Formats: sequence, C-alpha cells, structure tokens
Amino acid sequence: MLGHVVAGLEAFAADPVKLGAFLISLWLAAALYFAVGVEKNLARKTLLMKLNFFVAAFPFSLLALSLGCSVAQLGCAVVLTQVLLLAVPLALVVALVLIRILMPRLQCAGCRSLHKSHALSRFAVREAKLLGLPLAPKVFLLERQAPVAYCVEDGSVIVVSVGVLELLSRREQEAVVLHELHHLASNGPSFKALSAVYRFFLPFSSRSFSKDIDLVEIRADDYAASRQGTRRFLNSARGKFSS
Ligand SMILES: [Zn+2]
Repeated sequence: MLGHVVAGLEAFAADPVKLGAFLISLWLAAALYFAVGVEKNLARKTLLMKLNFFVAAFPFSLLALSLGCSVAQLGCAVVLTQVLLLAVPLALVVALVLIRILMPRLQCAGCRSLHKSHALSRFAVREAKLLGLPLAPKVFLLERQAPVAYCVEDGSVIVVSVGVLELLSRREQEAVVLHELHHLASNGPSFKALSAVYRFFLPFSSRSFSKDIDLVEIRADDYAASRQGTRRFLNSARGKFSS
C-alpha cells in the first residue's frame, strides 16, 4: 500500500509545475514566518500572520490533491496520507473561522447589553468618536462578581463584569473603558486572538509575541492615562482587578 504513496510522491516530484509551486509556497511561508517575527507594526504583523496561514496551507493541499490524481489505484495508505496532509490546511481554516465568527459569540455568551443611556455606555461612545473608531462601541455586562473587562474580536464590543460596576469608582471604570477602546482602535483583540492561534501552530514564534502583547497593554494604559491626565485611576482599578 505504501507503494502507492511513494509512486504518487515520485509523480509529484517529476512534475516541474507542481514541484515548483510546492517549493515556492514553502519558501514564501518560511519568508513570511521570518517577517512576522521581525515586524514591529502590529497591524502589519496581523496581516502577515493571516497571509502566512494561507501560504502555509497551500503546499499541503497541493500535495494531498495531487497524490490522489496521480495514483490510479487508490490504496488506503494514499487516502490516509491525503487526510493527514489536508488536516493542516483544514485546521488553519477552522481556526480562522473560530476567531472570526465563533469567538465573538463565545466571548459575549451570558452577557447582556448595558443600556445606551447608562453613563458608561455614553462615555464609551463619546470617547470612541475621539479615537476615530468606525463603529460606535457597545458595552456588555457580564454576570460575574469579580472585576473583569475585555473587548471582543468583532471590533465594537467592550465587556465589563458586574464587579467592575460595583467595585470600581466612576473614574476607574472610565480608565478601564479607555484602555479597552484603545485595544479596539489598534486592532488589539484581533491581534491577540490570531497570535494565540499562530503560536499554537508555530510555537517557536512565542518569544516575539510576548513582547508585542506587553506593548499592546502598555500602549492601552498610556492612552487611558493620557486621556485622564493621571495614572491614578488606572492603577487603583488594576489593584481591584488583581485582588
Ligand atoms: Zn488590555
């Protein structure tokens, strides 16, 4: 049975167009991997990661599909090899769909929308305009006593827990919202989610990302502090988050 796989691979290697496309896409994937590691601009880094997913998926799909076409008599080793090869691009596609479609729903599960007239909702909308956000943000409330806040991958939702409203002062709540708004404006949620998937598939790239994630948080804090003219509320809010 293994003979079918070897015959398929030999036929693939003998075809200059297929082999060329395979090698070029592998080389491109490696070049993009290197570029992701050194890129400092987070928006460009996010784009490079997406491109790298597609380029890395291509040689596996090509090899899997060619293997089937070139082998006249299908053996189960061929089918198994095809399934294994196709699992890589399929996993990448599923991961991207999860991030884009399912993650916002999962992140908002159990939340309810804070009324538009609530002071924090109005504050978020006002501040989003100053930041130039294309969509007016919605603030969602999570039924949890511990203070928790995050923004959702879809780019327009900020989630705060009941604990944030109960335990934090108004100015501390605003500091939290300003921090999250900066994440939304700088594509932070998308970067965080995508980099987590990227690191899962390519664990060696983790080092460059830990610095980036720190930078994302520092910039969001700096923005909140600059809007409020002090770090006082940000620091006191942080103290309540960790306690
Ligand atoms: Zn943050």
